[in-house]
Amino acid sequence: MTISKQTAERRQDYDGASPFPEAEEHVPAGRLQVGLTGAIVVAPFLALGVAIFLMWGRGFTLTDLLLAVVLYTVTGLGVTVGFHRLLTHASFTARPWLRVALAVAGSMGFQGNVIDWVAVHRRHHAFTDRPGDPHSPYRYGTGLRGQFRGLAHAHLGWLFIDDQTPAQRYVPDLLDDPAMTRVARAFPALCALSLALPFLAGWAITGTLYGALTAFLWAGLIRVALLQHVTWSVNSLCHVLGNRPFKTRRHDRSTNLWPLALLSFGESWHNGHHSEPSCARHGVDRGQLDPSAAVIGLFERLGWVSNVHWPDQERLERRRVPRREQARALAGD
Ligand SMILES: [Zn+2]
Ligand SMILES: [Zn+2]
Repeated sequence: MTISKQTAERRQDYDGASPFPEAEEHVPAGRLQVGLTGAIVVAPFLALGVAIFLMWGRGFTLTDLLLAVVLYTVTGLGVTVGFHRLLTHASFTARPWLRVALAVAGSMGFQGNVIDWVAVHRRHHAFTDRPGDPHSPYRYGTGLRGQFRGLAHAHLGWLFIDDQTPAQRYVPDLLDDPAMTRVARAFPALCALSLALPFLAGWAITGTLYGALTAFLWAGLIRVALLQHVTWSVNSLCHVLGNRPFKTRRHDRSTNLWPLALLSFGESWHNGHHSEPSCARHGVDRGQLDPSAAVIGLFERLGWVSNVHWPDQERLERRRVPRREQARALAGD
């Protein structure tokens, strides 16, 4: 979508509370994109229905659960450590084979190809919670109705709008990297692999087609849906609910939301992240669980990554907002 001159002008004087100018002129995406996105979003819920029907009275097999946990962890870390902390923010340097492995694992998370994912996320940081942000919950203003509409938009609705993020502008580094363009091209095949693996593993372990099918449902479709909604919750909830212990740029309302810390592998310490985007650890305070940072630390000890940007305590304290002011900051003052 190319924005009109009028919209571009109105973006300049955003006040932090009104709907974004582009909210009025958005164009729905083409039918093919809507159809594909809709299928990706809806299929897991149909699968959940089928899974419950199949499993009724038989319980849940340990094989399905273990396969789901393993694949959730591998693809989830592919997104958080690979797509996000390494490729979007360069918070560490990885050996070439590990860089490719992480990009492949992230692609298996059904969240778009690596180049588009990184482009959209860099744009989110460039325009956080102001006009131009691809998925801000403040798009429709800060009134109650606008806020709910905005949350739905930030969680999922943004995928159904024709709002292209130009890769040339946001990810020239990845476009120049043949390994990354190859992984991006392989995205549909990697999605297929992401569903084929649990099916085949279920078959191999149980020796039955029924075992293959339930593994496909739980460790394939439902695992994909859970990771998608956790990632999307960071876009939606982690800009609305929670606390804001660190200073961020004007209009940026990213928050820390502890209940999502484990499932999101530490990405829900989102205020910490927006405050210092290139830091490899998002949960920077004591007791803030950040499994992605732990994995990066492990990779560092193994000698697979270097140049890791760990938190700098002095910088951190300079950015810390006194507790009394945090509530006010969250109210958008
Ligand atoms: Zn954010
Ligand atoms: Zn980020």
